[in-house]
Amino acid sequence: MKILVINAGSSSLKYQLYNMDSGEVLAKGNCERIGSGGFITHKRPGFENYACEVDLPSHDEALSLVLGLLVSEEYGVLSSIDEIDAVGHRIAHGGEKFKSSTLIDDEAIAYLETIVPINPLHGPPAIKGIKACRRLMKDTPQVGVFDTSFYSQIEDYRIIYAIPYEYYTENKIRRYGFHGTSHRYVSAKAAEMLGKPIEELKIITCHLGNGSSITAVNGGIAVDTSMGFTPQEGIPMGTRSGTIDPTVVPYIMKQRGLSAEEVEDVLNKKSGLLGVSGLSNDYRNVLTAAKEGNYRADLAIKMLSNGIKKYIGSYTAEMNGLDAIVFTAGIGENDSTIRSLVCKDMDYLGIRIDEDKNSSASGAADISADDSKVKTLVIPTDEEYMIALDTLKFC
Ligand code: AMP
Repeated sequence: MKILVINAGSSSLKYQLYNMDSGEVLAKGNCERIGSGGFITHKRPGFENYACEVDLPSHDEALSLVLGLLVSEEYGVLSSIDEIDAVGHRIAHGGEKFKSSTLIDDEAIAYLETIVPINPLHGPPAIKGIKACRRLMKDTPQVGVFDTSFYSQIEDYRIIYAIPYEYYTENKIRRYGFHGTSHRYVSAKAAEMLGKPIEELKIITCHLGNGSSITAVNGGIAVDTSMGFTPQEGIPMGTRSGTIDPTVVPYIMKQRGLSAEEVEDVLNKKSGLLGVSGLSNDYRNVLTAAKEGNYRADLAIKMLSNGIKKYIGSYTAEMNGLDAIVFTAGIGENDSTIRSLVCKDMDYLGIRIDEDKNSSASGAADISADDSKVKTLVIPTDEEYMIALDTLKFC
């Protein structure tokens, strides 16, 4: 079985082709700058990468190029596009309708179009990617895998904001949660690593990347998560503020003479690690500066680690216990400092890590101290593979 995974952004189209019989990636790549030029990188394990400037006016041209490369004599891995059994699409938002991965038909697309107002950045490109695939691969099943669907079982009192209830019923303002595919993947992997059924485990998964979120997974079901109506809520991120007092917004507007859109831009693109440190949104740069004694960089790192700690505490309370913490994504997988700061002084909750195991961790690793009640794991995420696995169920 061969599954193509597509992740369409506003000016990009990432792809990954899997042979699901062996689990191997046959080819992967990225089309960038769609609509304003065009550049493609195409990789096949064991071969030299192919990279080229090419005119890509729209997602249709990008997908045509990708499909052409996949069957080309020089760079291809397929003899025909018909070898692709199904296409899995990463879709950030499934609204309230899509509670699990689903076959995408006209009705599904029509629904996705209705929720563009609550998903203005990611919705339109995802729809473009789906439409391009349906045009160019008419008989191939298209499957939507939604970041939000892992959160469809969270209880109402944890997803409704304490604002007039009509804002939920009429305007769909509620918490949705994001990064669900990553949290679902690493929580399942954690159960595998611990050799226990996921149904018996209480796990907190920390996806720490440029965007970051934390999820409480009780018995395999997400019961709470840090991101909300948008990926803006929660802990500080690369450029996003995370949760702030909402009255700060009108106050900034008045004090600094900014429009609502400008404040949104500040909170989304100029805050978080970048805003506090004044240096960079890249965690590595901020950490290096903090270690060199830069006060604001150090402040940003402390705000991040303390934010994560608070979620771990509150989710342990919500689940009435904790068996494992998982660190994943760019920062969580690679940086021992953040793991160390987060897990420091957590003995009361039964969390103790082994600093030698922590600093030498590479790939999937158990970094818990031998006598720790709670296991702390590092697990590389693989959202694309999770999407491919879900898509396979429709073949
Ligand atoms: P992601 O969004 O998952 O790609 O993660 C991006 C973030 O991971 C950036 O802030 C990077 O600075 C951080 N990151 C990537 N590699 C490392 C590393 N080796 N050590 C620390 N942070 C890293």
